[in-house]
Amino acid sequence: MTTTLAFIGLGHMGGPMAANLVRAGHRVRGHDTASEQLAAAATAGVEPAGSAARAVADADAVFTMLPAGRHVLDLYQDVLAAARPGTLFVDCSTIAVADARTAHDRAAAVGMRMLDAPVSGGVVGAEAGTLTFMAGGGPDEFAEAEPLLAAMGRKSVHCGGPGAGQAAKICNNMILGISMIAVSEAFVLGESLGLTPQALYDVAATSSGQCWALTTNCPVPGPVPTSPANHDYRPGFAAPLMAKDLRLAADAARSGGVRTELGLRAAELYQAYAQGAGAEADFSGIVRDIRQRSGGQA
Ligand code: NAD
Repeated sequence: MTTTLAFIGLGHMGGPMAANLVRAGHRVRGHDTASEQLAAAATAGVEPAGSAARAVADADAVFTMLPAGRHVLDLYQDVLAAARPGTLFVDCSTIAVADARTAHDRAAAVGMRMLDAPVSGGVVGAEAGTLTFMAGGGPDEFAEAEPLLAAMGRKSVHCGGPGAGQAAKICNNMILGISMIAVSEAFVLGESLGLTPQALYDVAATSSGQCWALTTNCPVPGPVPTSPANHDYRPGFAAPLMAKDLRLAADAARSGGVRTELGLRAAELYQAYAQGAGAEADFSGIVRDIRQRSGGQA
């Protein structure tokens, strides 16, 4: 069934996601504060709406893909009243669980419905339509959104009530950030002990050290030809985005009194890396930081 959709935030992720909704046969009215993003989306068939309020006015569902929680909350403040009563708002941005819950409350207060539905899969997944969505909200809202999410992704998981999608996202990425540091430290230690990266890889990839950070996004060049390490650490999943997700996890842990010792340390290490040499690198490039701080050549 063709639906009229609004898509606000047409950047690296939102642009290709909106294009996939157009490809699936939907009418998509888009808005972005950056004119170049809007123009790029228009070439893919997204109709520039002129403003966010105009984009949502006759939409059956409203997607947002914005940088951070304050952008989502500010935008909701501006546009919730402009939508038809009962419109489904689906926020795919990665934001704090608390901000997502506030957004749900504000939507419900004016008669709108909402899902938080952050993604994993990065720009490559957004372009290929192979994202994974993790959704928080009511079961009816999830059922309604699922066919639309299927036009942009391969898998959607209903994680629970308001904020549950964001909770799943930051918990998953906390595992990933910690495991990438663990794998990187192991390679640097192995090198200092005279072990070749290939030898360590061959053992760990088929032993209990096996994990995605090792076998898909291997931080050293060689063992996994498709990993960013073989392409001068071009992202991939950029280090500043990992730093952001770990900061959200750390904030949630602190406010909940949860002792995520490694998660907090990973957040510190990624923040330092993302502010320095890793500003434009894949998050696996942290191996070079660890090597350098150990007295080796980055
Ligand atoms: P981006 O900066 O490329 O895109 C965000 C877009 O939002 C920009 O084009 C910006 O101009 C627009 N924008 C900001 N405020 C706006 C407003 N008030 N109204 C309309 N447009 C506005 O960022 P991105 O890489 O597309 O990431 C978007 C979200 O997805 C972030 O929350 C990020 O954490 C998350 N995410 C990104 C990736 C990734 O690999 N890039 C992966 C998973 C999740």
